[in-house]
Order: sequence, then C-alpha cells, then structure tokens
Amino acid sequence: MEVVKDALNKAQVAFLSYKNFSGKKKATFLRAIAEEIEALGTELVTTAMRETNLPEARIINERGRTTGHCRMFADLVEEGSWVDARVDTAIPDRMPAPKPDIRKMLVPLGPVVVFGAANFPLAYSTAGGDTASALAAGCPVLVKAHPAHCDTSRLVAAAIEKAAIKTGMPQGVFQHLDAEGFEIGQALVKHPLTKAVGFTGSLAGGKALFDLANQRPEPIPVFAEMSSINPVILLPDTLARDAAKTAANLAASITLGVGQFCTNPGLIIAIENEALNSFIKTLASEIQKALPGTMLHQGIADNYSRRLTQTLVQKGVKTEGQAANGTHSQGTPLVASVSAEVFIQNPALSEEVFGPFSLIVRCKNIEELMKVVSRGHGQLTATLMGDEGEISKHKALINVLIEKAGRLIINGVPTGVEVCPSQMHGGPFPSTTDSRFSAVGIDAIKRFARPVAFQNFPESLLPDELKTDNPLGIWRLFNGEFRK
Ligand code: NAP
Repeated sequence: MEVVKDALNKAQVAFLSYKNFSGKKKATFLRAIAEEIEALGTELVTTAMRETNLPEARIINERGRTTGHCRMFADLVEEGSWVDARVDTAIPDRMPAPKPDIRKMLVPLGPVVVFGAANFPLAYSTAGGDTASALAAGCPVLVKAHPAHCDTSRLVAAAIEKAAIKTGMPQGVFQHLDAEGFEIGQALVKHPLTKAVGFTGSLAGGKALFDLANQRPEPIPVFAEMSSINPVILLPDTLARDAAKTAANLAASITLGVGQFCTNPGLIIAIENEALNSFIKTLASEIQKALPGTMLHQGIADNYSRRLTQTLVQKGVKTEGQAANGTHSQGTPLVASVSAEVFIQNPALSEEVFGPFSLIVRCKNIEELMKVVSRGHGQLTATLMGDEGEISKHKALINVLIEKAGRLIINGVPTGVEVCPSQMHGGPFPSTTDSRFSAVGIDAIKRFARPVAFQNFPESLLPDELKTDNPLGIWRLFNGEFRK
C-alpha cells in the first residue's frame, strides 16, 4: 500500500536523526505539543463533544490530562534518568579472568504505530499516552485515527505537526493517517519498518493485530489494552456494616461516562446473606434512578445492546435493576445477578459487556468465592471491599488477585486512573497483551525502548548517559552503587 510505504519510509528517515536528539530537545517538542493543543481552544472542545457525545467538562478534563502527560514525559526525558543507565567499569587484573568494561542503557525501538481509543478521544488517542511516551522515548509515531472522532484527531494532529515544525523536529516524526477500514491499519502493522504498536479497543481488534504482528517475518511487540471486567469482591462482615454506602459508590462507578471505561466494575462477587440482599436492593434502586446516556458512537451502542441481550438470556441470569430505556444510541444502566455455580460453568459470563452494566455473582461461602476469583481471567484492576481486620483473615485472596490484575484496590472504585509514577495500568491477558508494562504514568515509555550494552567502548564513543564523568548528571547504577 503506497501511502503506508511512504509514511514508514519518512518515519524511518526521521528516526535516524530523532533517536539521537537530547532529552532537552525532545522535551521542547513535547511541551510545544501541549501548548499547541491548548491553543486549539474551544474548537477542539466542541469538535470532540460533537463527535463523541461526551460532555464539555469531561473533554476539558481529558484535554488537561493529555497536555499533562505531554509535560510529564517532557520533564522525564529532560531529567534523563529514565534510560536506566548502568556502568560496570573494567577490572583488568580480576582473577581468574579480567572483567571487561560494560555499560547499558535503554534506546528507542523505531517507528511506532498507534491506534487511538474510541473512549478517550484525547487522552488515549492522537496525542494520547501511547503517542507521548513513544515520542519521549525517541520513536517517530504514525497514528491510525479512530473513525469515531476523525475531526478531533485531525485537529490534534495539526497541533502536533505545528509543534514539530516550531521546535525543529525532523519531517516524518509524527504522521496522521485517517483512512477508514482495517486495510490501512493492517498494512501499518505488517510493514517491516514498524517496530512496535500501541492499541486500545476491542479484544477482537487487539488480538487480530497482535497475531498479525507475530506472523511477520520479524515479529514486533503489540501493546494492546483490550478487555477487562474489573472484579469487585465484597467481604461479608464489612458489607453488613456498609451495604448502602458501598451500593451507592458502585452504582456511580458503573454508570460513570455511560460505563465506557476500561476500568468499569463489570463484576461484583459476594457471599449470599442478608447484607448482600440489602446491598443488591440499594444498588438496583440506584441503577433504576440512573439516566440512560448517549454512547460514544452507534457501533459501541449496538455492541452494548447486543452483548447485554446475550448475557441476560444466559441460563440463571436475573435482572436486578434497570434504568428506563433510552433511544437506540443510548446505553441503559442495568445490574443482574447469577449464582457462582452457574457463573463458573459458563465462560460467556466472564466476557466484557462494554457499557453501564455489572453482574453480581452470589457465592455460597468463602471457598466458593475463592473458586470464582481463582478461575477468573486477567484484569486491569481488582477491588476488595473490607476492613483491615477482615482482609487479614483472607490473605489468600490477595495472593490470587496479584496473579490476576495489574492494580489492586481496597475500599475504592476502579474507575479513575491517577496519573503518577507508581501507577500501573495494564494486566494479564486479555486485559492487555503484555502484563509487564503500564500504559499510564512514566513507565509507559519503557514499552518503546530496549536495552543495549556497550562493551569495552572508549569514552569518546559512548553515549553521554554512559560516560564516566556523567556529563548529564543523571542517576545511574555505577559499579553497583546507585548515584549521580
Ligand atoms: P475496535 O473495533 O477494536 O477498533 C479500534 C481501532 O482498531 C479502530 O481504529 C479499528 O479500525 C482498528 N481495528 C479493529 N480491528 C482491526 C483489525 N482486525 N484489523 C485492523 N484494524 C482493526 O474498537 P472500538 O471501535 O473503539 O470499540 C468497539 C468495542 O471495543 C467496544 O464496543 C468495546 O467493547 C471495546 N472497547 C474496549 C475498550 C477498553 O478499554 N476495554 C475501549 C474501547 C473499546 P476501524 O475502526 O477503522 O475499522
């Protein structure tokens, strides 16, 4: 495909110079992106609102998050220690054999293809976390625009291109391809000059692109965030005290943004008793009061309606509470319940229903609850509702949850992802294709870099990060000691 070939050739030429740019220079570019996005003003806000049906406050908030992560990565690369430099100097007289001089640091992978998310038109799209972290690492980026918000994507792309020109970046450091359909995306993933892929969307889409990348003569990493139902486990003693409050908090989390968050609590697991009945009654009444909301695009609304119907017709599933039906573009909030026995036997009930829906699993006892948790898929998050004393009695649960999820929460809701260095947004399959990495926070940069060791290099040929006198003043592991 000519357009893809041209774009990747340009990206590769850009890579040859961009990869050697200093952290300071890349930081200037990232900060200029933030400024150009802000300079788009209300046009960006109204365009994104029109294309996604998201309210103004949410778009403004997302814009802040987008410019915030551009500046966060600017600070990171300007400071420079992210390259994880290690210096082990030679010991020529070591016995029985001399020790060579070895030094290691992270270097950028090469051109990265980014598939923007439908549910975050700014923060996970054109200038989203994947783009910002790849550019920060030193990788040119090719964005395949999401067809649900093409105009928003074009506006943001123009802002990035303007920032690139203003700060003297090489042509091709960022490219925007907005043709619809799978063909262009697949050609981008298959092209030999593509070195990594960032994706947020459906399990089917992410897995198809992951498989394609692995079938290439030279396989490449695909960092796909796809499907998570974010189990919430309610411990019985605590639930007996807090049933109403817990139900109100969860109802708000389930319906937030019409349930269109990857961290939406789609599964609630608890032990049968009076407290659970009272919790379900309050949750159902909160959900009944909720309003149906217009979803991001018709495809997502149709998908929600289809997946909801498929779930509700499964044997043993009982609707507990449902909001008033809306139009065919709206998502109706709904909660249902099922016994643990049926849930365990029916794998279809563990699949994501993307929208304002949650399934409550009723367990006979703690042993059955452990069985449900142990058999679950990989998740972005897992939440435990319980006080310290009660959780301490069930430490085995935490052990299992560590295997299942990237972020464990006590007495909170999974929606709302704080952007900070200790954040982990990722998890075992199918929540992502690579549980070792986070898509949020400064560690997201590590997805687009790889370590290289330099053995017996003279000082003059070493990158600045690895020179003995540390001209950049960065933190390094120097002969086993962590210092500047
Ligand atoms: P999607 O269908 O996976 O599409 C995402 C992007 O990937 C689009 O640009 C799409 O291209 C491309 N794509 C998908 N499959 C592909 C394939 N086989 N080959 C090449 N390119 C492919 O996701 P969506 O449209 O954003 O939403 C659909 C469903 O995904 C939702 O209803 C929801 O279930 C799920 N979703 C989950 C999350 C989450 O965070 N868990 C987030 C968003 C969506 P085109 O659109 O041009 O065809």
